[in-house]
Amino acid sequence: MSVLDLARPEIRAMQPYSSARMEASGGEVFLNANESAWAPVGDDGLGCNRYPEPQPAALVDALAALYGVRREQLLVGRGSDEAIDLLVRAFCRAGRDAILIQPPTFGMYAVSARVQDAGIVEVPLAADFTLDVDAVLAALTPAVKLVFICTPNNPTGQPVPRAAVERLAQALSGRALLVVDEAYVEFSDAGSVAALIDRYDNLAVLRTLSKAWALAGARIGSLLANAEVIALLRRIMAPYPLPLPCVEAALMALSGWGQANARERIGIVCEQRARMQTALRRLPGVREVLPSQANFLAVRFDEATVVYQGLLAAGIVVRDVRRYPNLGDALRITIGTPAENDRVLAVLKSPAMDGQGVAEGAA
Ligand SMILES: *Cc1c(COP(=O)(O)O)cnc(C)c1O
Repeated sequence: MSVLDLARPEIRAMQPYSSARMEASGGEVFLNANESAWAPVGDDGLGCNRYPEPQPAALVDALAALYGVRREQLLVGRGSDEAIDLLVRAFCRAGRDAILIQPPTFGMYAVSARVQDAGIVEVPLAADFTLDVDAVLAALTPAVKLVFICTPNNPTGQPVPRAAVERLAQALSGRALLVVDEAYVEFSDAGSVAALIDRYDNLAVLRTLSKAWALAGARIGSLLANAEVIALLRRIMAPYPLPLPCVEAALMALSGWGQANARERIGIVCEQRARMQTALRRLPGVREVLPSQANFLAVRFDEATVVYQGLLAAGIVVRDVRRYPNLGDALRITIGTPAENDRVLAVLKSPAMDGQGVAEGAA
């Protein structure tokens, strides 16, 4: 059995779009793609009058080296969001197949499933936000084609132990593709499971340059998976997904200089995370700071609404995650610069933020 047997048969059978750029090989004068022969103003040698490479070789090589996979095991696209969407579209037949997720978790898995009219099987995380592998396996139905796990999880911050990932990959073999979202793995002690894709053909890993690599605005994400899965997704991907300026920005970030910079910033974030965790735990009105291996903290408050509003009034926007199961009193606070974190703490320590001040203000 091939892992592609899990994919939609009509996608496997379809003839993909063949772009001018794909068909071209060699040549010097390009009159094949109806592009402008002239560069736009301010182009500065970038060549934006030409369509970009569908999968820019230099970027694919740099990312494959970074993540420790072979280039045919990597698909680069517009953020991990695009990879999530491509996976759902390639593996889930509308109205018939399903994905499995563990709430509270990242919202895009369910959004992509709904767009595709795929079902959503929910297996909530345990009360301490750990993943229950047995519960996931027990909830599995033949309709489930994709199992998403997020490690460290957004919005809670906990990683899924490697042993649990392996157990799932093994148990799902021949039944479903296991998609491990490692958007925050650079901030974690856990390490990536990317090396396991050689062992499990049904394992896929999502990585992104949006968080630790400071490139959320460039929209560069990667899917690491079995070469056959990557080739299948390329069939349905937009012909030219990656804008040239974004590819340039990514190559700069992945240069020696860029990597040193990213490592330094990751170190600062981890330091600041520890500092904020300690400081927040000491504040009155803070019920709990969830242990986090990501670049954010989920914090439970006695009065989450008051805190949210108080921060907002001081110009600080945090994420209200109270709609998530088991997080009805929580806000998610991203780790900022030391000065930004100071501002958060100053507001939370201000008199308006303790119960007394609020009661007085309300009176
Ligand atoms: C931020 C985030 C991503 C990244 O999405 P991009 O499209 O790459 O920006 C993916 N997964 C999770 C869980 C995230 O929190």
